[in-house]
Amino acid sequence: MSNDKLDVLRSELDEVNLKLLEVINERARLVQEIGKVKSTQGVNRFDPVRERSMLDHIAEHNKGPFETSTLQHLFKQIFKASLELQEEDNSKALLVSRKKHPDNTVVDLKGVMMGDGTQRLVMGPCAVESYEQVFTVAKALKERGIRLLRGGAFKPRTSPYDFQGLGVEGLQILKKVADELDMVVISEIVNPSDLDLALEYLDVIQIGARNMHNFELLKAAGALDKPVLLKRGLSATIAEFIHAAEYVVSKGNNNLMLCERGIRTYETATRNTLDISAVPILKQETHLPVLVDVTHSTGRRDLLLPTAKAALAIGADAVMAEVHPDPAVALSDSAQQMDIPQFNKFIDDLQASGLYKG
Ligand code: PEP
Ligand code: MN
Repeated sequence: MSNDKLDVLRSELDEVNLKLLEVINERARLVQEIGKVKSTQGVNRFDPVRERSMLDHIAEHNKGPFETSTLQHLFKQIFKASLELQEEDNSKALLVSRKKHPDNTVVDLKGVMMGDGTQRLVMGPCAVESYEQVFTVAKALKERGIRLLRGGAFKPRTSPYDFQGLGVEGLQILKKVADELDMVVISEIVNPSDLDLALEYLDVIQIGARNMHNFELLKAAGALDKPVLLKRGLSATIAEFIHAAEYVVSKGNNNLMLCERGIRTYETATRNTLDISAVPILKQETHLPVLVDVTHSTGRRDLLLPTAKAALAIGADAVMAEVHPDPAVALSDSAQQMDIPQFNKFIDDLQASGLYKG
């Protein structure tokens, strides 16, 4: 073959490449359109029946020289890339994403502005056990300038024989203490049917790690006009956590905060493994305030201070930790709650570190 002939063929090939490029991108644009229609209809993007019929259609029209199986393999790659394109589009559209909403969301908790750049502490007992217990802790918090009070009234316990919480009575105790000491109360709700009741007593509805995938609870909390604190599931990936958050916000409730609380790994030195890098990832990917629960992530009193420092240093909006007047007799999590002198030392040390300005 003369060199001239080769040059002509090569330039034809270049042209065909450009044509392919054009049609392949034209195809991608169509797929994106289809993705948009599917997302408004809530239809699954991956459609194996449709893929099979497209592959059959290609086989019927194949005149060679490529083998049909080779072509089907190539087209399958195109289908896969197209599906990824649709998924990328979809994540761009997440309401919780920074792409959708570049500014930080600041959640107003009765005047405490969570996410405004001031780093805060959320503290209180694991479970509400009595009025005196909650009042004692709340008073100690108040003396150190902390208004965000946590305490479980409905406790999701591993064993049904463990203390399940005081229920409504626990909510009433929290409300009474909040009114007396001007605190903001955060407590977990586990059952969508308790949400209405909780509105009367709570300032923040907590959705716990075990319920991060309870979509009916997420949707019901999303329909409320009340701030929500969503904790990361025990084995949830960050993408799953973000999508759980989307459930709440997609129902209209923008007052959402996220809480990293440790995940299950093979490590047994700590109760869970604190995924500290989740904080900057969640801050980058979403516009929501991000908290770190140092109590449930470590399960160890000796690790509360260093992990709290790490959380503040890495940019968490708040740190959550448990405080009990007498942890040894606590009805839940007795190994990891601080008593009041330990709590005061914790605050002293955090302030001395320069990381906590409160
Ligand atoms: C809690 O904060 O009381 C609690 C039970 O935490 P988690 O859901 O993260 O286990
Ligand atoms: Mn606890």
